[in-house]
Amino acid sequence: MDLAASAHSLPRACHSTCSGIDVSFEFFPPQTEEMEEILWTSINRLGPLSPSFVSVTYGAGGKTRERTHATVARILNETNIKPAAHLTCVGASRVEVDAVARAYWEIGVRHIVALRGDPQNGPGTSFVPHPEGYANSTALVAGLKKLGDFDITVSAYPEGHPESPSVDRDIDVLKAKIDAGATRAITQFFFENEVYLRFLEKARASGITIPILPGIVPVQNFKQTANFARRAGASIPQWLADRFEGLDDDPTTRRLIAATIAAEQVFDLVDQGIDHFHFYTMNRADLVFATCHLLGVRPKRQEAYHEQPSS
Ligand code: FAD
Repeated sequence: MDLAASAHSLPRACHSTCSGIDVSFEFFPPQTEEMEEILWTSINRLGPLSPSFVSVTYGAGGKTRERTHATVARILNETNIKPAAHLTCVGASRVEVDAVARAYWEIGVRHIVALRGDPQNGPGTSFVPHPEGYANSTALVAGLKKLGDFDITVSAYPEGHPESPSVDRDIDVLKAKIDAGATRAITQFFFENEVYLRFLEKARASGITIPILPGIVPVQNFKQTANFARRAGASIPQWLADRFEGLDDDPTTRRLIAATIAAEQVFDLVDQGIDHFHFYTMNRADLVFATCHLLGVRPKRQEAYHEQPSS
């Protein structure tokens, strides 16, 4: 069974010493100075792990347009990490979306995570494209490719997108996005590896060969994750809820449990031949750093950062 495009198995005994695992990290643009500080503390901690890229999300309806741009620009200017800018087409004309993409191209950003975005009235309502906008993510990918030779990542939904009638339909949509120019997909987060592995197998069986990176969310806060999962159409298994039960007032134990769960999940995927993990960091580094450490991904400080002039 060829599960991952470029996968190879690492025996578990190797985890602490073997390289060969790639990671990437997702951040969101900060709203306040305090959040900006938290974000940059996290980037400074995770950057030396030499992620193959870090991506910065685009707020629903494009409301973080400037903040996303500023964060991506700062990553580009102050680190050696390759940034990827998320971009959606909700509530904007093609001309407006193209202008955002062109501004990225002009500062040297070559990687876009291209998404349709949630309907303007929120997940669960129907999506109405802007009258002069891109109709869906496939049209967005095609439009971006016309503007420049961007490296384009798209989403994938192992449990099916909430608006989609079936996982098969989502695989057709993924194929259309690839035909339009996407070269990589990142999945919605999941907790049952079987769900992801089944999706991967279906995708491969239908001729999809691009990397489909598992989106891993370390559970920083169970209630928040469960709420987010409900809106995103990701399921929360009962065993996960059970593990956090009774720990509302015990943050230390919660963190230990969260670290254990993330480690179990990625080790199991490594055993299945998966060698690139995309972490939804929620702008917090510790759990992700610990999971990467367990995977044998260690800091390479000089490579990750621009050299500072010596005094
Ligand atoms: P799509 O692949 O476009 O699918 C959405 C729905 O449209 C599906 O039901 C699909 O079946 C249908 N569809 C797609 N193409 C067609 C077509 N040609 N004809 C008919 N139906 C079609 N949201 C943000 O606002 N900002 C972000 O930064 C962001 N980052 C994300 C990153 C990842 C890795 C993921 C998984 C999601 C992210 N989202 C983000 C959420 C995403 O925008 C929503 O889930 C949105 O509802 C779907 O957009 P999409 O591009 O992921 O889905």
